[in-house]
Amino acid sequence: MPEIPKAYEPQEIEERWAKAWFEERLFRAENSGNGPAFSIALPPPNVTGSIHIGHMLEHTQIDMLVRWHRMQGHRALWLPGMDHAGIGTQFVVERELAKEGIRRQDIGREEFERRVWQWKEQSGGAIKQQMIRLGASCDWTREKFTLEPALYRAVIEAFLRLYRDGLIYRGRYMVNWCPRCQTALSDLEVVHVERPGKLWYLRYPLVDAPNESLVVATTRPETMLGDTAVAVHPDDERYQKFVGRSVLLPLMDRTIPVIADSYVDREFGTGVVKITPAHDPNDFEMGKRHKLPEIDVMTDDGHMSAEAGKCAGLDRFEARARVVEDLKALGLLERIEDITHSVGVCDRCKSEVEPRISTQWFCKMKPLAEPAKKAVVDGLIEVVPENQRTILLNWLDNIRDWCISRQLWWGHRIPVWHCADCKEMLPATDSSVELFEGHARAAGVPKKCPKCGGTKLKQETDVLDTWFSSGLWPFSTLGWPDDTPDLRTFYPTSLLISGYDILFFWDARMIMMGMHLSGARFGASGAPKTDPAETIPFHRLYLHSLVRTAEGAKMSKTKGTGVDPLQFTQQYGTDALRYMLASMAAPGTDIVLSEDRILGARAFANKIWNAARFLFVNLEKVEPQGLTLEMLAAPDVRAGAPYTVPGSAGLAHRWIFSRLASVIAQVNEALENFRFHEAAQTIYQFFWGDFCDWYIEWVKPQLSAIGDRDAATAAWRNIFAALDAALRLLHPVMPFLTEELWHRLPQASGARSIALEQFPASGAQWSDAAAEQNMALLQEIIVAARNIRAEMKLDPKKRVAADFSSGDAAIRTMVEQNLEPMLRLGTLSELRISAGHLDSTGAAVRSTAHFDLRIAYGEGVDKAAEAAKAAKEIDRLAKDIVSKRARLADDTFRSKAPETIVRQMETTLREREIELRKLEERLKQLV
Ligand SMILES: [Zn+2]
Ligand SMILES: [Zn+2]
Repeated sequence: MPEIPKAYEPQEIEERWAKAWFEERLFRAENSGNGPAFSIALPPPNVTGSIHIGHMLEHTQIDMLVRWHRMQGHRALWLPGMDHAGIGTQFVVERELAKEGIRRQDIGREEFERRVWQWKEQSGGAIKQQMIRLGASCDWTREKFTLEPALYRAVIEAFLRLYRDGLIYRGRYMVNWCPRCQTALSDLEVVHVERPGKLWYLRYPLVDAPNESLVVATTRPETMLGDTAVAVHPDDERYQKFVGRSVLLPLMDRTIPVIADSYVDREFGTGVVKITPAHDPNDFEMGKRHKLPEIDVMTDDGHMSAEAGKCAGLDRFEARARVVEDLKALGLLERIEDITHSVGVCDRCKSEVEPRISTQWFCKMKPLAEPAKKAVVDGLIEVVPENQRTILLNWLDNIRDWCISRQLWWGHRIPVWHCADCKEMLPATDSSVELFEGHARAAGVPKKCPKCGGTKLKQETDVLDTWFSSGLWPFSTLGWPDDTPDLRTFYPTSLLISGYDILFFWDARMIMMGMHLSGARFGASGAPKTDPAETIPFHRLYLHSLVRTAEGAKMSKTKGTGVDPLQFTQQYGTDALRYMLASMAAPGTDIVLSEDRILGARAFANKIWNAARFLFVNLEKVEPQGLTLEMLAAPDVRAGAPYTVPGSAGLAHRWIFSRLASVIAQVNEALENFRFHEAAQTIYQFFWGDFCDWYIEWVKPQLSAIGDRDAATAAWRNIFAALDAALRLLHPVMPFLTEELWHRLPQASGARSIALEQFPASGAQWSDAAAEQNMALLQEIIVAARNIRAEMKLDPKKRVAADFSSGDAAIRTMVEQNLEPMLRLGTLSELRISAGHLDSTGAAVRSTAHFDLRIAYGEGVDKAAEAAKAAKEIDRLAKDIVSKRARLADDTFRSKAPETIVRQMETTLREREIELRKLEERLKQLV
């Protein structure tokens, strides 16, 4: 074993192991063999992006669970991959091109696609490299990309099945349109922001009585150019006489009818509303009811169309100003009101979204949502935390059809061909793909129109919403639509971990798509699976918190708010960063980054390194006395049973294994329930407190073989077995540090990786209540001695004598037997043990119900200060006693509280009463 370096250097250790794990394909999962399968799909990051700290939180949580399952003997698969991220990627590449002064329209679709692929080749590998470096235990041999041929084929297959099932349709409907990105957006891609705006009141003269007019109110006056009616409520008495008449639409000189529709809100504005079916979702519906013409007054890029009269060609906001000005000049602007209203903006580029009528492709969602909802209600999919389950069910209840087409150039082109002669739509003949310029495209091209026999067929230019392919991710990545061993072994996946911000975008759609499509995985040859338990994409769904910047914004690379985790890992080490994120990841609370927390995590890593180093260095010192690594590598050390160390020297050994038993149980329980913070903190307290500060310190002298070689061997074996268990417990959260140290253990000789070892089993046989109780008491005495010393401001190295008294003979014997560690750890020269009363004259005394400890004052002690301290403590105890007595006198409490709680409170009360009596006596002597 090479010498262990003095300083913990995470950079060197982490880079070395990251490379080794990747090159050795250590995390390759087998689709056959022993052990249950555990699988989890990586929420695929945007291929052109890079990992920010938010991903790092997600990956740390996933990795902890995957490593934990792998160490339990599961064939654990964490399947990685990237998403082509249609609009996101296209936006980034367009921004790059803009730096060269190029618009995508200048170079055309094919050239643009070539540029995006180029960009993907250059920057697409960044995430993978980062993830490898950050220790994600993915199976990189199964890495996937949503635009690769196999997944392209899955997308076409899914589209064709949904199309055949009558769930996909094309039509002219109201959509959210981004004039910057020039594409339709789904409702989820529109962000609503509160903004100051204006409400303009416009006057429309009546055709049959030009001196009279109706007044309408609008926040978007430019859309009036596309008005085709004005509407009032049928029961609104103010306006009944106008219904059926007409007004003259100003600026356009168009005659439009006054209609009645109960949808009109009598309270809004004047109670008369303008109807623009091509530019407002409610007006669109009303237009359908009343068969009103739809006049689109805008172009794709947010300018006014030829239908906009004199405003044609103007930008939409210039047109707004122009319309207002012109109406004012005509005396048709009644008034202007300042308001604050909600404005929809493009999630990607922040441009104001236009509700606009447009021909798009839609997916019917109600038939897909029903089974998904049932699966959640029936508990086939467990959703954590609980409140997210309610949110998901509500959304499924109120689901609307999904606009799946995008007017983008980067993505899966819709596999439908249009006949130029008769406009018939022909879906691809099958889901096959072929390579074109190295990339996949649909190969099932129809040859002839079955309706008119025409051969002028042109493929749809729209691509699918990027979330269409991500919706297939859990099964497309395992080989669907083929019936593969991977699909049989790893689907449904065990678990999905994602941010709650993509619950609707992704998680819900995976459930719906998985349940509708994956059952048919046996294709034409076999019977489709219909059992929902086999078609759901995951059994459990955990929605993790988000990491927020100090300003509270969500992290995102394209939005410029991402923090690069490598910046932290270079400074503090990946393990420290992982530990910090895990320790803060309480379900349901967002995380705000903190430099202090990461400093604490780095101190923890240092502590572990130094403790382990201390042991290895000391082992070298005893080797000349015949204590060799080989001797300590007894095969049964791995089972971790404590070796008997004779007499009272065995106490600390029995105690540390008893502590381990409960810590293992706690960690398992916490990880099972996604309480990552609790798992991390439990291991921290055990490793730092119990193992380093108490156990190692306690048994130090036993480790030198000079006295009793057999006892030393047993002590060494125990300490290595405990360290072994502690490193395994810590491995899922701090994989690098634990791998590095674990290989230095005698029992690790010849093993490949701690990651492939067993997670410590909770050994109930280790539980030892007596050892825990005795050790707790001894620790209490030592802490009391340390506290007195600290208050007396004694020289830390100076040993002083102390008196110890206890009425309990068993306690006195135990202290007697453990005198050596007591003196050493309490920095005492002697401990005089008695059963009698300790006089506190000229001394500081610490009293508990079980013992008194007295250290005599040296020169210059402030008696008044001691008295004040005692008085304060008496006050605190007295108050506590009063409150406990009241509780115990309360019949409701006694009848409702569990018996053990009542007993425990009675015991504590008796102890407090003894402590109070002792303190009162002491105060008398001090004053
Ligand atoms: Zn946009
Ligand atoms: Zn045709």
